[in-house]
Amino acid sequence: MVYEKQNQLYEGKAKKVYATQDPEVVIVSYKDDATAFNGQKKGTITGKGAINNRMTNNLMRRLEQAGIPTHYIQELNDRETAVKRVNIVPLEVIIRNISAGSFAKRYGVEEGIVFDAPTIEFSYKNDDLGDPLINDYHALALKLATREELETIQKYAFGVNTFLKIFLKGIGIDLVDFKLEFGKISDGTLVLADEISPDTCRLWDEQTHEKLDKDRFRRDLGGAEEAYEEVMRRLMGETL
Ligand code: UDP
Repeated sequence: MVYEKQNQLYEGKAKKVYATQDPEVVIVSYKDDATAFNGQKKGTITGKGAINNRMTNNLMRRLEQAGIPTHYIQELNDRETAVKRVNIVPLEVIIRNISAGSFAKRYGVEEGIVFDAPTIEFSYKNDDLGDPLINDYHALALKLATREELETIQKYAFGVNTFLKIFLKGIGIDLVDFKLEFGKISDGTLVLADEISPDTCRLWDEQTHEKLDKDRFRRDLGGAEEAYEEVMRRLMGETL
């Protein structure tokens, strides 16, 4: 199938979405634009779009093989991928294996505490409200998802974590935390959507604990381009 890029449907902070001739398929196009703190900090990480596109696709193909349904269809070029059109469930699903970021800040603990078991939390995807933390009762009350959908999302999210943690360890990376988004295709089936990249994961080198992710941009550490390239280089050493 050759997917033709038609009108732009949406432009987000890091991606554009285009219609295709197939109403069930859209094309995502990854940008080099980087934002943090709910869009208050803006910049560019050169080459990020291509890396996030290829890394997301690589990981989604592996996750499909591991039994997690995703929106992935076909990589079209460096920056663009055909994916199933979904209605996004307006929840950011965050899994953590090691304390960092807002968890460390919220509970007043240092970064780097390795948890005995992974944690899950949800944020309500709403830029005007600053993506507030939400629990499953509130998500149900707001009709953001059904009880069954929340259970499936939770099951898939922990499944993604189990798979990714082991896979990334194999390339010398500790998976600290990450954010997932899920969507529903036209028949209501839940699939993993959005991206899995150094924009949406905290990735630490297992030896040096060097940050190989967007924290380099968020915290002005420098070397963001090199960090993204390093993750990609390690990932591409593994074939799929
Ligand atoms: N994250 C994300 N998008 C968001 C918020 C968080 O991709 O809008 C990712 C972030 O990169 C990290 C994980 O989710 O890997 C947990 O982020 P946290 O809640 O610690 O928030 P932050 O410190 O990034 O504000």
